Amino acid sequence: MRLLVVEDEPDLLDLMGRALERGGFAVDVAPDLRRAGEFLAVARYDVMILDLNLPDGDGLVLLRQVRARGSKLPVLVLTARDAVEDRVTGLDTGADDYLVKPFHMPELIARIRALLRRPDAVLGITLSLGNLVLDTTSRQVSVSETVVAMSVREVALLELLMRRQGAVVPRDLLEQGLYSFDSELGSNAMEVLVHRLRRKLADAAATACIHTVRGVGYMLTDLA
Ligand code: CA
Repeated sequence: MRLLVVEDEPDLLDLMGRALERGGFAVDVAPDLRRAGEFLAVARYDVMILDLNLPDGDGLVLLRQVRARGSKLPVLVLTARDAVEDRVTGLDTGADDYLVKPFHMPELIARIRALLRRPDAVLGITLSLGNLVLDTTSRQVSVSETVVAMSVREVALLELLMRRQGAVVPRDLLEQGLYSFDSELGSNAMEVLVHRLRRKLADAAATACIHTVRGVGYMLTDLA
């Protein structure tokens, strides 16, 4: 899952960036409205976290533009202003949720996961296919109730494939969901990641299997 964080406070960004990456998210950071607009034009995000007080204007302006284009991108508004009015305006403008600063990182992550569970993103906390289960909150993967050790990124890839199980997931969609613009992405990074995940699933005797669809992407199906 890929997030766009629009926030201009370096200390908060640093804290958020680390917490979100540990949570298994790919994160792009825009310090102002202009760069947020540029990111939104070229990448596909699962959630946007939007500060209201930005150096080049009000975050609500961006939110209005996003909704005017018909985008249903879940948006979590951050506000330092403790005014009820701001929150009401935010929600009226099309924010899905808001968080008042200062906040604790676990709360931020819980709110993001709640947004990802909404009808448009669908599917609950636990994803399953055959004997394979992924708990999207604890980030734990198990096969026949035995936990399988996986890296943060392996779990992230598995989540993307499980959310679209039985369908071919285009490679560029996976790359967008797994890697922020800052990531150094080698040309065969995706192949290596898929290879490792495939081997872990096979070693754990998972009935689910990742198929390569040449020139298109990957598909997770259950063989049982
Ligand atoms: Ca700010």
